[in-house]
Amino acid sequence: MAAPGKVAAFRLPPLPTIGEIIRLFRLKAQKQLSQNFLLDLRLTDKIVQQAGELKNTHVCEVGPGPGGITRSILSAGVEHLLLIEKDARFIPGLQMLSEAAPGKVCIVHGDILNYRMEKAFPKHLKKNWEDEPPDIHIIGNLPFSVSTPLIIKWLENVSKKDGPFSYGRTQMTLTFQKEVAERLTANPGGKQRSRLSIMSQYLCTVENCFVIPGQAFVPKPEVDVAVVHFTPLVQPKIQQPFKLVEKVVQSVFQFRRKYCFRGLETLFPENGRLKRTEQLMMAANVDPTLRPFQLSMSQFRNLCNTYRKMCDEDPGLFVFDYREELRQKKKKKRLPSSTGQLEQT
Ligand code: SAM
Repeated sequence: MAAPGKVAAFRLPPLPTIGEIIRLFRLKAQKQLSQNFLLDLRLTDKIVQQAGELKNTHVCEVGPGPGGITRSILSAGVEHLLLIEKDARFIPGLQMLSEAAPGKVCIVHGDILNYRMEKAFPKHLKKNWEDEPPDIHIIGNLPFSVSTPLIIKWLENVSKKDGPFSYGRTQMTLTFQKEVAERLTANPGGKQRSRLSIMSQYLCTVENCFVIPGQAFVPKPEVDVAVVHFTPLVQPKIQQPFKLVEKVVQSVFQFRRKYCFRGLETLFPENGRLKRTEQLMMAANVDPTLRPFQLSMSQFRNLCNTYRKMCDEDPGLFVFDYREELRQKKKKKRLPSSTGQLEQT
C-alpha cells in the first residue's frame, strides 16, 4: 500500500472556488458524457493522498474537468503535472490553474484512450522494472464508461511494460463505480470475484482505498464511487501473454454460476472437447466442480500454463473461437431449408 501523502506542500495563490469556475465558464455537466464533479477540496485532497508522497514527482491527471483534483495535486508539491482533458470547455479554467502554478502544468486537449503515454514524461525518470516505482503517478476521476476499458488497456500495458509502464512500475490512483472497485479487489469465494479481479490482481497490487458517496458529486450519479490504487507487481502472478490469460479467464467466467468445467470447455473445438477439457483440468490440478468465483490465483496460473502447453502442441488452438463455431453451426442448420426452397422452384 502507498503511504498516504501529505497535502499543501505547495500553496496556490487565491483562486475562484471550483463552483465559481463552473459558473464563470458555464461548465454545466453533460449527462451523456457522465460528467460528475467534485467540488469539496477536502475530498479531492483525500483522493490525492491515496497516491502516496507526490512532492517533486511527475503526475498525469486524466479528465481534470473543472480542476478540483488538479488543485489538490498541485498543492501536494508536484514537479510537473500533465492534464489530459477531452472536453474543450474545461481548457480555459485549467489554463487559469496553470497560470497560478507557473511552469508546472501542461494541458493536452485530447482523449486518454488514444494518448501515447510512453512519451509523456522525461526519459531520466525511467527506472528498472525490479526497482522501486518511478516518481510518476497517474491520477483520475473518469466516467465509468472510460475507466473500465482504460484499466484493461493499462493492464495490458503493464504486462508488456509499455505505455505509461515503459518508465517502470508507474502507480495509478483511479476512481470506479463502487461495484467495479469491489470486483477489481475481490478475493476467491467473494461475491464480486470476476474476470476483472484476476486480470488486475495477476499484474498489480490492487487496493480499494475508500468509498465516495454519490451525493459528494455534482450532479449526483446513480451509484457510489470508490478510489482504487494500483502498483504493478515486480513478478506477475501468471507468466503468460496477456491475451492468453484474458482468453482463459473470460472462458471460465462466461458461465459464472456453473462448474468451471463448463466455461473451460469453450477453449476447445467440438471435436475432442470433453477429452481435452478433462486433460486441461487434470494437468492443472483443478477440481472441475469448482465454481468460477472459487478458483484461486494459483489455479488460474496452472490453467493458463497448461493451456499454453496445449496451444504450443496444437498451433491452431489459440485462434479457436467458440462463438464463431456456434455461428457456423446455426448457419448450417438454416442451410437445408433454403436448399429445399430452391428445389421447389
Ligand atoms: N476530475 C473532475 C472532478 O473530479 O471533478 C471531473 C470528473 S468527470 C467524472 C470526468 C472528466 O473526464 C470530465 O472532465 C470529462 O470531460 C473527462 N473525460 C471523459 N472522457 C475522457 C477521455 N476519454 N479522455 C480524457 N478526458 C475524458
